[in-house]
Amino acid sequence: MGWKRVALIILAAVAIVGGGAYYWLIVESHAPADGHFALDMEEIRRLADVKPGSKAVEIDAEKVAAFSFPLTAVIAGGGWKKVEMPVYSYRLVFPDGGTAIIDTALDAKVGGSQLASFDAAAYERMSAALDKASLIVVTHEHMDHIGGLTEHADLKRILPAVELTQEQVDHPERSVPAAFPEGALNGYKPLVYDHYLAVAPGVVLIKSPGHSPGSQMVYVQKADGTEVLFIGDVAWKFRNIELVRERARLVTQFMLKEDREAVFAELGELHRLHEAEPKIHIVPGHDGEVVDALENAGVIKAGF
Ligand SMILES: [Zn+2]
Repeated sequence: MGWKRVALIILAAVAIVGGGAYYWLIVESHAPADGHFALDMEEIRRLADVKPGSKAVEIDAEKVAAFSFPLTAVIAGGGWKKVEMPVYSYRLVFPDGGTAIIDTALDAKVGGSQLASFDAAAYERMSAALDKASLIVVTHEHMDHIGGLTEHADLKRILPAVELTQEQVDHPERSVPAAFPEGALNGYKPLVYDHYLAVAPGVVLIKSPGHSPGSQMVYVQKADGTEVLFIGDVAWKFRNIELVRERARLVTQFMLKEDREAVFAELGELHRLHEAEPKIHIVPGHDGEVVDALENAGVIKAGF
């Protein structure tokens, strides 16, 4: 065999292996068959009525910052075009004036050079809203959801309103570079629950580990019966649910260390739920089009 032939064979092998690796890391998004996740809406709705008091009359969204990711990082096989990944905090307003916060975004220091944009005024409004809230929950322990909390100037004072789960507290390594100050959670009693937990009138937490160990969805039923399901980063975009398609494996396996099988099961169940009950408004973690549409429809109000 001549050296040219050997070189050709090596080149062909590299192309095949490299092509396979590219496909596996960047494009492949086949749902495994054995995951299991169920959203029992009958039980979730029952729990929404468990806490005494009036349900929220308003849901506000504050867009604090944005990332910019290649589409294939968001939806495997989507190509390299950059897409905006807005970062939100949400506020529920109850008729007695009480408020609850879902997700706290992140500050400019935590976001650093990863941020494509940052709205300092929006962050200040969000941070001030944390001061007044009677309940603060996060969908998961990643920096763009918990960062506004870890960096809050008066964490000790607002901590009684903060309801982190055991898993969120147990995995600070998932929050970096966001981190609670040394000792800030000493003596803190996190939430411990198995599947669903009612935390306020019309508000139910839904345990959804996979994207991170402490991931949960937040079901909100407004006083007028409107239903909104904040799914955190189970999906970054609604398209993930439509296609039942995950982020690229390079992101899920090597950057996020996701339980990919669990996330696929959740995407499949959200897909089923959307087909069965299209009136439930599903809000992915970073989908500006979904939030804009809900603002236009009057389900969510823009700004705190
Ligand atoms: Zn996120």
